Amino acid sequence: MNAAHPNSDFSVRFWGVRGSTPCAGPEVQKYGGNTSCLEITCGGKRLIFDAGTGIRYLGNEMVKEGALETDIFLTHTHLDHVCGLPFFKPFYSAANEFRLYSGHSTFGCCTKDALKNMMVAPLLPMDVDVFSADLQFVDFPCGDNIELEGGIVIKTAPLNHPNGATGYRIEYGGRSICYITDTEHVVGKPDQNILSLIQGADVFIYDATYTDEEFAVLPPFGHSTWQEGVRLADAAGVQCYVAFHHDPDHDDDFMDQVATDLEQMRPGSLVAREGMVLTP
Ligand SMILES: [Zn+2]
Ligand SMILES: [Zn+2]
Repeated sequence: MNAAHPNSDFSVRFWGVRGSTPCAGPEVQKYGGNTSCLEITCGGKRLIFDAGTGIRYLGNEMVKEGALETDIFLTHTHLDHVCGLPFFKPFYSAANEFRLYSGHSTFGCCTKDALKNMMVAPLLPMDVDVFSADLQFVDFPCGDNIELEGGIVIKTAPLNHPNGATGYRIEYGGRSICYITDTEHVVGKPDQNILSLIQGADVFIYDATYTDEEFAVLPPFGHSTWQEGVRLADAAGVQCYVAFHHDPDHDDDFMDQVATDLEQMRPGSLVAREGMVLTP
């Protein structure tokens, strides 16, 4: 595991690491308050995972590049994972082309309809037709493998989340990054879907909304704990485990303590921070 260098051909950048709802203020400045968005670069190709408020900042960088053709993969369409889309500037240029992949059609959802329902008066002053970019919606059955040009393979598995969610494993050049959020575990029963998907992964990003102590007393709402992430990482022989989807009520001091405890329990593990870049 190394910090990325400019010529790296496989990396992940964290544009949003927070779960459930964005937060702001000096007390969350260190780890960041934007909701889920990852940018994965594979051999010069850009893949985006989730479109929470973090995608707005990524979009502001992308508009400097001219015409774009980009794949966006959604874990699911809960608001914290799609609320950045109306403010994603590359959607407002006719020169751009996007494919939006979702696996939770398995659970009776269709991504285009979900966006239409989100972008509706009086919740927002514009509807999905406001976008001038070419948007193609690809609803695939969760569990499918998706092969992209350039030898990129994306494997998927269903997660345990209200309304469904898709876990992703991105393989490129013999290395792998797994993105597993939002999911609720069952105490003492490791999720076999997740274990199969993350087996031997180089980087494993996991829904660490809670601590085990909180999980025991709070309604989990479809989320997991950083300690369960450690148990899964150990069982699957993962190289680097990254705690992600932080509770908006967990301030920087709290997250610093998680980082310390995590380092003790599984040395080399990381707590996701906005702006962090990793190469597997
Ligand atoms: Zn979420
Ligand atoms: Zn969710």
